[in-house]
Amino acid sequence: MPPSDPDKPILALNAFDPGRAAALEPQLAGSIRRRYQLFGSASVLFYERPLELVRAQGCWLYDAAGTAYLDAYNNVPSVGHCHPRVVAAAATQLARINVHSRYLHPGALDYAERLLATLPRGLTNLTFTCTGSESNDLALRLAASFTGATGVIVTQAAYHGNTALTTAVSPSSFLQRSAAPHVRLVPAPSAPEHFADHVTAAIADLERHGLRLSALLIDSIFSSDGVYADPAGFLRPAVEAVHRAGGVLIADEVQCGFARSGDALWGFERHGLQPDIVTMGKPMGNGYPIGAVVTRPEILDALHEREGYFNTFAGSPVAAAVGNAVLDVIEEEDLMANALRVGDYLRQCLRQLATRHAAIGAVRGAGLFIGVDIRAPASAPALINALRERRVLIGAAGRAGDVLKIRPPLCFSAADADLLVAALDDALGEQR
Ligand code: PMP
Repeated sequence: MPPSDPDKPILALNAFDPGRAAALEPQLAGSIRRRYQLFGSASVLFYERPLELVRAQGCWLYDAAGTAYLDAYNNVPSVGHCHPRVVAAAATQLARINVHSRYLHPGALDYAERLLATLPRGLTNLTFTCTGSESNDLALRLAASFTGATGVIVTQAAYHGNTALTTAVSPSSFLQRSAAPHVRLVPAPSAPEHFADHVTAAIADLERHGLRLSALLIDSIFSSDGVYADPAGFLRPAVEAVHRAGGVLIADEVQCGFARSGDALWGFERHGLQPDIVTMGKPMGNGYPIGAVVTRPEILDALHEREGYFNTFAGSPVAAAVGNAVLDVIEEEDLMANALRVGDYLRQCLRQLATRHAAIGAVRGAGLFIGVDIRAPASAPALINALRERRVLIGAAGRAGDVLKIRPPLCFSAADADLLVAALDDALGEQR
């Protein structure tokens, strides 16, 4: 990528530069060298001083020396790392039976019923997958066969997965080259009032090129674009335009689903949307790979009339047991309310911090998904590394990687928020 290009591929954000391994402690440098030998250019590590972690509990991660790191980054273990309830569910089921889903098993049925009950009316068919990428890949195939069209609209720094189909609609994976002919990119909603205009223009542009719209595919909290949650409801006019053009809405809940936004179980609910297809992954299994696609029967049937879909590991008895345990914990520990309460408190603290540090720009988000704009002389990558040295883990987002992405497990407490803000205060003081 030319150095003048402000866009950064998602994998480059906060990535370790392998050329610097020799400057690190010998044991760490040795592990890194071994990894690059084994994984080659596919190896991506976080941080200037990568972390080697050996165990975790709740919101805390530990290295071999027992040093504790506060996790404000990982949304996969969303009910807390190694939650005993989830671990027990997996272990018990693994010791009883675990087999593919072409035999009947009550676990998958109970779990599917429970999930479907949380979704809008009409979304009555669920297909299990193992990852968010698989969910979005299937969703794109469903949309194409149902609409008979190929055009897909996504945001400029979106990430939707690692398969061939989903990489084509993940501009944050291909920022150095242009989008495929059937893909149109719209800006992240930093000016939400214009979002529907951009979508309408993208539909018109597809039509000018002889293509029709198949789907608008969005992560309704715009995680990799830099976190845009407000005002609630702003996505509605864009979705109306999509439906008028004959396209479908795919709500990618891989990041914002499972209570993260604090106000609802699903991110699209914040905008009062009725998606045609909902995709799920990451937090669904708290670390165990579970995903799902939910849609209307006529959309599912349109694909299955033409081709089959089977996924060996999806919806297995262990996957269902883990998924059910995750929902139990969200309910019993009232994690949605915690996400709302602690998320609001943390945003308040960050805005307070902004009054003392000019480097902090806008603080955005919903529940425990927070984006913080960082301005010169500070820089987001430097702050993320400075926080790592203070044993607090966060990440980066946005086209230029200049947004702090804060997305802890949902059991994050107000005391954890205080630790994070104190560390950020200290790191910002150093960068003045
Ligand atoms: N959609 C979104 C919004 C994501 O953030 C991701 C992963 N970061 C995916 C889909 C793909 O999920 P997975 O890596 O589990 O395949």
